[in-house]
Amino acid sequence: MKKIGVLLLFFILLLSIAACGRNAENIDFEQDDETLIVTSFYPMYIFTGNIAANIEGVKVVNMTEPQTGCLHDYQLVPADLKVLEKADIFVINGAGMESFLEKVISQLPDLTIIEAAKDMDLLVDGSGEENPHVWVSISGAIQEVKNITEGLIAADPKNEASYRKNSEGYVKKLENLKNSMHEALKDIKTKDIVTFHEAFPYFAHEFGLNIVSVIEREPGSEPSAGELADTIKAINDAQTKVIFAEPQYSAKAAESIAAQTGAEIYVLDPVVTGPKVAELDSYEKTMEENLETLIEALK
Ligand SMILES: [Zn+2]
Repeated sequence: MKKIGVLLLFFILLLSIAACGRNAENIDFEQDDETLIVTSFYPMYIFTGNIAANIEGVKVVNMTEPQTGCLHDYQLVPADLKVLEKADIFVINGAGMESFLEKVISQLPDLTIIEAAKDMDLLVDGSGEENPHVWVSISGAIQEVKNITEGLIAADPKNEASYRKNSEGYVKKLENLKNSMHEALKDIKTKDIVTFHEAFPYFAHEFGLNIVSVIEREPGSEPSAGELADTIKAINDAQTKVIFAEPQYSAKAAESIAAQTGAEIYVLDPVVTGPKVAELDSYEKTMEENLETLIEALK
């Protein structure tokens, strides 16, 4: 009987080690002296990761998997609420991106929530809905970084100096990126683009591009026959026959439109997904790739 007890204990121990290993970033959640910042999805994770980099006792964890993409229709799973229960601060994009926000507020009324898009001017789409993808323009990203920084300082004032120093360095990098992109795009001949989903209006606005049609408004919603016909007409009327797809969505609709119009397909990345171990400069890298793609496509 005793032997079985020991074996059982050993087995439970093994199981718990396995559980930790599967979710390694959760291991030191229990430390009370640590400031745990949870971010809602990939771009918030990258921005906050830069602002809170290398600060002792401050940990940044992303609630969703890095391949999740936008959170328009995201449903919270029990593991998400478990992570949020341990969080001191929750960094979200806001502007309607996190459709589950009310559930979080009602279940965890004491959680400090930082809204990156707070008080920003939002673009409104054809159906009157506010567009939450502000980070896809670099000016929008800079404003979000500044808002997150102020939120972190208010919630965790003892680390103010570190947050500020990191944030200023990161903003400088983003400013440089923005300037070099403006420089590179200023002589581009054609400015008409056709894109996928509603991620690119802020980007287009910043660089003077003209989105003539959006193929799929939301992930998973296939365009209707009428919408397809409108898009095909828009491409045929445009100076350059190019379609910009996104890596997060199926290229099926884009391919069918390409086949009917002779348009070429290129990929623009709205920085909503990334590798499991995200590099701090992944926003800049992705935007530089987008720039190369644009120049190649619109030359
Ligand atoms: Zn989206």
